[in-house]
Amino acid sequence: MSRDKHIEIALQDAERYARPHMDQGKVATYIPELAKGDPTKLGICIRTPDGEEYCQGDCQTEFSIQSISKTITLILALQTAGYDRVFSKVGMEPTGDAFNSMIRLETLTTHPMNPMINAGAIATTSCCIKGCADPFGAFLSLARTLCGRETIRLNKEVFTSEYQAGGRNRAMAYFMQSENLLEWDAEDVVELYFKMCSINVNVRDLAHYGLVLACNGKDPATGRQLVDPWICRIVKTLMMTCGMYDASGEFAVKVGLPAKSGVGGGILASAEGRMGLATFAPGLDKRGNSIGGWYALEFLSQNLGLHCFSGHTEE
Ligand code: GLN
Repeated sequence: MSRDKHIEIALQDAERYARPHMDQGKVATYIPELAKGDPTKLGICIRTPDGEEYCQGDCQTEFSIQSISKTITLILALQTAGYDRVFSKVGMEPTGDAFNSMIRLETLTTHPMNPMINAGAIATTSCCIKGCADPFGAFLSLARTLCGRETIRLNKEVFTSEYQAGGRNRAMAYFMQSENLLEWDAEDVVELYFKMCSINVNVRDLAHYGLVLACNGKDPATGRQLVDPWICRIVKTLMMTCGMYDASGEFAVKVGLPAKSGVGGGILASAEGRMGLATFAPGLDKRGNSIGGWYALEFLSQNLGLHCFSGHTEE
Protein backbone atom coordinates (compact mmCIF):
# COMPACT_ATOMS: atom_id res chain seq x y z
CA MET A 1 0.00 0.00 0.00
CA SER A 2 1.27 3.46 -0.76
CA ARG A 3 -0.11 6.90 -0.09
CA ASP A 4 -1.10 8.84 -3.18
CA LYS A 5 0.41 12.33 -2.77
CA HIS A 6 -1.83 13.68 -5.51
CA ILE A 7 -4.95 12.80 -3.49
CA GLU A 8 -3.49 14.29 -0.30
CA ILE A 9 -2.75 17.59 -2.03
CA ALA A 10 -6.10 17.59 -3.85
CA LEU A 11 -7.90 17.27 -0.51
CA GLN A 12 -6.06 20.23 0.99
CA ASP A 13 -6.80 22.29 -2.09
CA ALA A 14 -10.45 21.17 -2.07
CA GLU A 15 -10.84 22.51 1.47
CA ARG A 16 -9.23 25.83 0.46
CA TYR A 17 -11.52 26.02 -2.58
CA ALA A 18 -14.72 25.19 -0.69
CA ARG A 19 -14.31 27.22 2.52
CA PRO A 20 -14.89 30.72 1.10
CA HIS A 21 -18.30 29.61 -0.23
CA MET A 22 -19.50 28.18 3.05
CA ASP A 23 -20.83 31.36 4.61
CA GLN A 24 -23.59 31.41 1.97
CA GLY A 25 -25.01 28.27 3.61
CA LYS A 26 -27.68 27.96 6.29
CA VAL A 27 -28.04 25.02 8.66
CA ALA A 28 -31.40 23.27 8.54
CA THR A 29 -33.79 24.46 11.23
CA TYR A 30 -37.07 22.72 10.35
CA ILE A 31 -35.81 19.84 12.48
CA PRO A 32 -34.94 21.92 15.59
CA GLU A 33 -32.08 19.66 16.71
CA LEU A 34 -30.25 20.24 13.39
CA ALA A 35 -30.14 23.99 14.09
CA LYS A 36 -27.31 23.20 16.53
CA GLY A 37 -25.00 22.26 13.60
CA ASP A 38 -21.74 24.24 13.41
CA PRO A 39 -21.57 25.91 9.96
CA THR A 40 -17.79 26.36 10.17
CA LYS A 41 -17.12 22.62 10.12
CA LEU A 42 -15.85 20.95 6.95
CA GLY A 43 -14.73 17.34 6.66
CA ILE A 44 -13.71 15.47 3.52
CA CYS A 45 -12.71 11.80 3.30
CA ILE A 46 -11.63 9.51 0.47
CA ARG A 47 -11.12 5.75 0.71
CA THR A 48 -9.49 3.73 -2.04
CA PRO A 49 -9.61 0.00 -2.88
CA ASP A 50 -5.99 -0.50 -1.76
CA GLY A 51 -7.09 0.21 1.82
CA GLU A 52 -5.86 3.80 2.05
CA GLU A 53 -7.89 6.48 3.79
CA TYR A 54 -7.37 10.20 3.17
CA CYS A 55 -8.89 12.64 5.67
CA GLN A 56 -9.11 16.40 5.54
CA GLY A 57 -10.64 18.62 8.23
CA ASP A 58 -13.43 17.47 10.53
CA CYS A 59 -13.41 13.78 9.77
CA GLN A 60 -14.36 12.48 13.23
CA THR A 61 -17.31 14.81 13.77
CA GLU A 62 -20.56 12.88 13.87
CA PHE A 63 -23.73 14.13 12.21
CA SER A 64 -27.11 12.60 11.45
CA ILE A 65 -27.20 10.75 8.17
CA GLN A 66 -30.62 12.19 7.17
CA SER A 67 -31.50 11.58 3.52
CA ILE A 68 -28.33 9.62 2.81
CA SER A 69 -30.15 6.85 4.70
CA LYS A 70 -32.54 6.63 1.73
CA THR A 71 -29.87 4.71 -0.19
CA ILE A 72 -29.51 2.14 2.62
CA THR A 73 -33.29 1.89 2.97
CA LEU A 74 -33.52 1.17 -0.75
CA ILE A 75 -30.90 -1.58 -0.46
CA LEU A 76 -32.77 -3.13 2.47
CA ALA A 77 -36.11 -2.84 0.68
CA LEU A 78 -34.73 -4.53 -2.45
CA GLN A 79 -33.16 -7.28 -0.33
CA THR A 80 -36.34 -7.76 1.71
CA ALA A 81 -39.13 -7.25 -0.79
CA GLY A 82 -37.45 -7.67 -4.20
CA TYR A 83 -37.43 -5.55 -7.35
CA ASP A 84 -41.05 -6.01 -8.46
CA ARG A 85 -42.64 -5.20 -5.11
CA VAL A 86 -40.44 -2.17 -4.43
CA PHE A 87 -40.97 -0.65 -7.86
CA SER A 88 -44.71 -1.22 -7.67
CA LYS A 89 -44.70 1.30 -4.78
CA VAL A 90 -42.17 3.85 -6.05
CA GLY A 91 -40.96 5.12 -9.42
CA MET A 92 -37.54 5.76 -10.98
CA GLU A 93 -37.91 9.30 -12.32
CA PRO A 94 -36.37 12.53 -11.05
CA THR A 95 -38.91 15.11 -9.93
CA GLY A 96 -37.27 18.53 -10.26
CA ASP A 97 -39.15 19.36 -7.05
CA ALA A 98 -37.97 19.89 -3.48
CA PHE A 99 -37.06 16.77 -1.48
CA ASN A 100 -40.09 17.19 0.80
CA SER A 101 -42.56 18.14 -1.91
CA MET A 102 -45.89 16.32 -2.01
CA ILE A 103 -47.27 18.02 -5.09
CA ARG A 104 -46.81 15.13 -7.49
CA LEU A 105 -48.28 12.57 -5.15
CA GLU A 106 -51.77 13.56 -6.10
CA THR A 107 -51.42 15.28 -9.44
CA LEU A 108 -49.11 13.25 -11.65
CA THR A 109 -48.67 9.67 -10.58
CA THR A 110 -50.27 7.15 -8.33
CA HIS A 111 -47.03 6.60 -6.45
CA PRO A 112 -44.02 8.69 -5.43
CA MET A 113 -41.60 9.43 -8.24
CA ASN A 114 -38.36 7.96 -6.82
CA PRO A 115 -36.83 6.52 -3.61
CA MET A 116 -34.44 9.48 -3.04
CA ILE A 117 -37.13 12.00 -2.03
CA ASN A 118 -39.05 11.86 1.24
CA ALA A 119 -42.30 10.47 -0.15
CA GLY A 120 -40.45 7.75 -2.08
CA ALA A 121 -38.29 6.81 0.88
CA ILE A 122 -41.35 6.49 3.09
CA ALA A 123 -42.77 4.05 0.53
CA THR A 124 -39.52 2.02 0.40
CA THR A 125 -39.35 2.08 4.20
CA SER A 126 -42.70 0.31 4.29
CA CYS A 127 -41.22 -2.46 2.10
CA CYS A 128 -38.65 -3.19 4.84
CA ILE A 129 -41.20 -4.03 7.53
CA LYS A 130 -43.25 -6.99 6.36
CA GLY A 131 -41.99 -10.27 7.81
CA CYS A 132 -39.18 -8.57 9.69
CA ALA A 133 -39.32 -8.74 13.49
CA ASP A 134 -36.92 -5.84 13.99
CA PRO A 135 -36.73 -3.65 10.87
CA PHE A 136 -34.72 -0.87 12.51
CA GLY A 137 -32.27 -3.49 13.85
CA ALA A 138 -31.91 -4.85 10.31
CA PHE A 139 -31.33 -1.33 8.94
CA LEU A 140 -28.77 -0.47 11.64
CA SER A 141 -26.91 -3.69 11.11
CA LEU A 142 -26.77 -3.07 7.32
CA ALA A 143 -25.63 0.55 7.88
CA ARG A 144 -22.87 -0.65 10.22
CA THR A 145 -21.70 -3.24 7.71
CA LEU A 146 -21.69 -0.81 4.78
CA CYS A 147 -19.91 1.89 6.78
CA GLY A 148 -17.46 -0.55 8.38
CA ARG A 149 -18.14 0.61 11.95
CA GLU A 150 -20.00 -1.43 14.55
CA THR A 151 -20.48 1.50 16.93
CA ILE A 152 -22.84 3.48 14.68
CA ARG A 153 -25.90 4.37 16.78
CA LEU A 154 -29.22 6.18 16.77
CA ASN A 155 -29.04 9.84 17.76
CA LYS A 156 -32.03 9.92 20.12
CA GLU A 157 -32.19 13.73 20.30
CA VAL A 158 -32.40 14.05 16.51
CA PHE A 159 -34.95 11.25 16.34
CA THR A 160 -37.18 12.89 18.98
CA SER A 161 -36.85 16.24 17.23
CA GLU A 162 -37.81 14.74 13.85
CA TYR A 163 -40.64 12.80 15.40
CA GLN A 164 -42.09 15.95 16.93
CA ALA A 165 -41.58 18.11 13.84
CA GLY A 166 -42.63 15.44 11.33
CA GLY A 167 -46.05 16.71 10.28
CA ARG A 168 -45.18 17.03 6.61
CA ASN A 169 -43.73 13.51 6.37
CA ARG A 170 -46.75 12.17 8.29
CA ALA A 171 -49.08 13.93 5.84
CA MET A 172 -47.39 12.17 2.93
CA ALA A 173 -47.46 8.80 4.71
CA TYR A 174 -51.18 9.07 5.51
CA PHE A 175 -51.91 10.14 1.95
CA MET A 176 -50.03 7.11 0.60
CA GLN A 177 -51.84 4.90 3.09
CA SER A 178 -55.13 6.14 1.69
CA GLU A 179 -53.93 5.11 -1.78
CA ASN A 180 -53.06 1.61 -0.45
CA LEU A 181 -49.39 2.19 -1.18
CA LEU A 182 -48.03 1.42 2.27
CA GLU A 183 -47.56 -2.12 3.44
CA TRP A 184 -47.86 -1.11 7.09
CA ASP A 185 -49.56 1.47 9.26
CA ALA A 186 -48.52 5.03 8.34
CA GLU A 187 -47.52 5.93 11.89
CA ASP A 188 -45.23 2.89 12.23
CA VAL A 189 -43.71 3.58 8.81
CA VAL A 190 -42.83 7.22 9.56
CA GLU A 191 -41.44 6.30 12.97
CA LEU A 192 -39.08 3.84 11.29
CA TYR A 193 -38.26 6.40 8.57
CA PHE A 194 -37.37 9.03 11.22
CA LYS A 195 -35.11 6.53 13.00
CA MET A 196 -33.35 5.65 9.75
CA CYS A 197 -32.67 9.37 9.17
CA SER A 198 -31.35 9.81 12.72
CA ILE A 199 -28.34 7.52 12.91
CA ASN A 200 -25.05 9.29 13.50
CA VAL A 201 -22.17 8.86 11.06
CA ASN A 202 -18.93 10.63 10.14
CA VAL A 203 -17.29 11.11 6.74
CA ARG A 204 -14.97 8.13 7.27
CA ASP A 205 -18.04 5.88 7.60
CA LEU A 206 -19.66 7.30 4.48
CA ALA A 207 -16.46 7.09 2.43
CA HIS A 208 -16.27 3.40 3.35
CA TYR A 209 -19.86 2.95 2.15
CA GLY A 210 -19.09 4.93 -1.03
CA LEU A 211 -16.15 2.62 -1.70
CA VAL A 212 -18.32 -0.48 -1.28
CA LEU A 213 -20.72 0.99 -3.85
CA ALA A 214 -17.78 1.84 -6.15
CA CYS A 215 -16.66 -1.81 -5.94
CA ASN A 216 -20.14 -3.09 -6.88
CA GLY A 217 -21.04 -4.16 -3.39
CA LYS A 218 -17.77 -5.84 -2.42
CA ASP A 219 -15.72 -4.68 0.56
CA PRO A 220 -12.22 -4.60 -0.96
CA ALA A 221 -10.60 -5.02 2.47
CA THR A 222 -12.23 -8.38 3.16
CA GLY A 223 -13.36 -9.49 -0.30
CA ARG A 224 -16.87 -10.00 1.14
CA GLN A 225 -19.80 -9.26 -1.16
CA LEU A 226 -21.96 -7.03 1.08
CA VAL A 227 -24.61 -6.09 -1.49
CA ASP A 228 -25.59 -7.85 -4.72
CA PRO A 229 -24.23 -6.05 -7.81
CA TRP A 230 -27.73 -5.67 -9.35
CA ILE A 231 -28.84 -3.76 -6.24
CA CYS A 232 -25.71 -1.56 -6.32
CA ARG A 233 -26.39 -0.72 -9.94
CA ILE A 234 -29.94 0.45 -9.15
CA VAL A 235 -28.86 2.47 -6.09
CA LYS A 236 -26.00 4.23 -7.94
CA THR A 237 -28.21 4.99 -10.92
CA LEU A 238 -30.89 6.57 -8.75
CA MET A 239 -28.20 8.50 -6.83
CA MET A 240 -26.93 9.85 -10.14
CA THR A 241 -30.35 10.90 -11.42
CA CYS A 242 -32.14 11.86 -8.19
CA GLY A 243 -29.63 11.91 -5.28
CA MET A 244 -29.17 15.69 -5.06
CA TYR A 245 -32.92 16.42 -5.23
CA ASP A 246 -33.82 19.23 -7.64
CA ALA A 247 -30.12 19.94 -8.22
CA SER A 248 -29.36 16.42 -9.48
CA GLY A 249 -28.99 17.52 -13.10
CA GLU A 250 -26.62 20.37 -12.26
CA PHE A 251 -24.57 18.12 -9.97
CA ALA A 252 -24.35 15.47 -12.71
CA VAL A 253 -23.00 18.07 -15.16
CA LYS A 254 -20.56 19.69 -12.75
CA VAL A 255 -19.40 16.73 -10.66
CA GLY A 256 -20.54 13.66 -12.57
CA LEU A 257 -20.65 11.17 -9.71
CA PRO A 258 -23.53 9.23 -8.16
CA ALA A 259 -24.10 11.06 -4.88
CA LYS A 260 -26.63 11.50 -2.10
CA SER A 261 -26.98 14.43 0.22
CA GLY A 262 -28.71 14.87 3.57
CA VAL A 263 -29.89 17.94 5.47
CA GLY A 264 -27.51 17.03 8.30
CA GLY A 265 -24.76 18.37 5.98
CA GLY A 266 -23.36 15.11 4.62
CA ILE A 267 -22.80 14.08 1.00
CA LEU A 268 -21.92 10.52 -0.03
CA ALA A 269 -20.32 9.95 -3.46
CA SER A 270 -18.87 7.02 -5.32
CA ALA A 271 -16.32 6.97 -8.17
CA GLU A 272 -16.70 3.71 -10.05
CA GLY A 273 -13.89 1.26 -9.22
CA ARG A 274 -11.72 4.10 -7.92
CA MET A 275 -12.84 5.48 -4.56
CA GLY A 276 -15.54 6.32 -2.06
CA LEU A 277 -15.89 9.98 -1.11
CA ALA A 278 -17.77 11.79 1.64
CA THR A 279 -18.08 15.37 2.80
CA PHE A 280 -19.63 17.11 5.78
CA ALA A 281 -20.44 20.80 6.08
CA PRO A 282 -23.78 21.70 7.69
CA GLY A 283 -24.47 24.97 5.83
CA LEU A 284 -27.01 24.17 3.09
CA ASP A 285 -28.11 25.86 -0.11
CA LYS A 286 -31.76 26.58 -0.95
CA ARG A 287 -32.26 23.06 -2.24
CA GLY A 288 -30.97 21.41 0.92
CA ASN A 289 -27.51 20.40 -0.34
CA SER A 290 -24.34 21.11 1.66
CA ILE A 291 -22.51 24.05 0.05
CA GLY A 292 -19.05 23.17 1.37
CA GLY A 293 -19.51 19.56 0.30
CA TRP A 294 -20.71 20.49 -3.15
CA TYR A 295 -17.72 22.75 -3.84
CA ALA A 296 -15.26 20.24 -2.40
CA LEU A 297 -16.64 17.47 -4.60
CA GLU A 298 -16.66 19.72 -7.66
CA PHE A 299 -13.00 20.48 -7.05
CA LEU A 300 -12.05 16.85 -6.45
CA SER A 301 -13.94 15.65 -9.51
CA GLN A 302 -12.04 18.06 -11.75
CA ASN A 303 -8.67 17.67 -10.08
CA LEU A 304 -8.70 13.88 -9.89
CA GLY A 305 -10.61 13.36 -13.17
CA LEU A 306 -13.53 11.61 -11.50
CA HIS A 307 -16.43 12.75 -13.71
CA CYS A 308 -18.02 9.60 -15.11
CA PHE A 309 -17.86 11.15 -18.59
CA SER A 310 -14.42 12.68 -18.22
CA GLY A 311 -13.30 10.98 -21.43
CA HIS A 312 -10.37 9.36 -19.66
CA THR A 313 -8.11 7.56 -22.09
CA GLU A 314 -5.47 4.96 -21.26
CA GLU A 315 -1.96 6.32 -21.59
N1 GLN B 1 -35.23 13.44 7.80
C1 GLN B 1 -35.31 14.48 6.81
C2 GLN B 1 -36.75 14.73 6.43
O1 GLN B 1 -37.50 13.82 6.44
C3 GLN B 1 -34.50 14.06 5.63
C4 GLN B 1 -34.49 15.11 4.56
C5 GLN B 1 -33.16 15.32 3.92
O2 GLN B 1 -32.09 14.98 4.41
N2 GLN B 1 -33.20 15.99 2.80
O3 GLN B 1 -37.16 15.80 6.15
